[in-house]
Amino acid sequence: MQFSERVSIVTGASQGIGKAIARELSREGAEVVLVDVQKEKLEEVARNIKASNGKASVYCADVTSMGKISEVVEAIIQNHQKIDHLVNNAGITRDNLLMRMKEEEWDAVLTVNLKGVFNFSRAVIRNMIQNRYGRIINISSVVGLMGNAGQTNYSASKAGVIGFTKSLAREVASRGITVNAVAPGYIATPMTENLSDSAKKIFVDIIPLKRLGTPEEVAHVVKFLLSDEAAYITGQVINVNGGMFM
Ligand code: NAP
Repeated sequence: MQFSERVSIVTGASQGIGKAIARELSREGAEVVLVDVQKEKLEEVARNIKASNGKASVYCADVTSMGKISEVVEAIIQNHQKIDHLVNNAGITRDNLLMRMKEEEWDAVLTVNLKGVFNFSRAVIRNMIQNRYGRIINISSVVGLMGNAGQTNYSASKAGVIGFTKSLAREVASRGITVNAVAPGYIATPMTENLSDSAKKIFVDIIPLKRLGTPEEVAHVVKFLLSDEAAYITGQVINVNGGMFM
């Protein structure tokens, strides 16, 4: 098991892509640290991981609170001695056409999707630098690269995540830390399940592979980027989108 000595934080781990990533890393032996806002859902994910002989612990926290995230990271370091992997996955949408977009919709999306990545990355980076080892994966989106009507806030946040990833990758490469982004296309999760059938059909029509992706298909790419085989990959954006954007 390639991650049996690793401590891996996954944010937004109680459902969807984050849950799939947490399960995948635990199958490789990682001590998975699950972070999300809903304690009961998180605890259920942890119970499932433990039932399969994995190692998981739960930290209930909102990624938008810098103070809380600093406390959580201190507690993780105290309990697990170090942090090897950080997967910044927590994200939200508040879609609207720009003309109708409320300030709160803009702020909510930028604060969770972009400031959340800043908060967690800043909180862990000192420990990774001390250890001269670390892997950070930021979950961006296909729409951060190609744009999408009705998602100026979300697209801006996800494009911001890409700029953040490349800049941090340059800052910390000499310390043995890699930083990459994964940009999923349309993935079947609670985030996309409320789309109408007609909206889903429109998306599937423009996806060369003619289907939505699965959370596991994103998790496999994250696992690879965290592995020793990916040691020479940093500052990259890996698309997992069925060919929707090339
Ligand atoms: P999801 O099913 O909605 O899961 C996101 C998780 O993040 C939820 O458990 C959510 O908790 C949690 N979360 C939200 N705000 C948080 C906060 N402030 N602090 C901590 N946790 C928070 O979404 P998903 O589809 O798995 O998406 C995961 C990531 O992939 C997101 O960054 C998303 O933007 C990105 N992505 C998804 C798709 C897709 O098609 N699904 C495509 C491209 C990129 P609550 O539900 O309780 O709020």
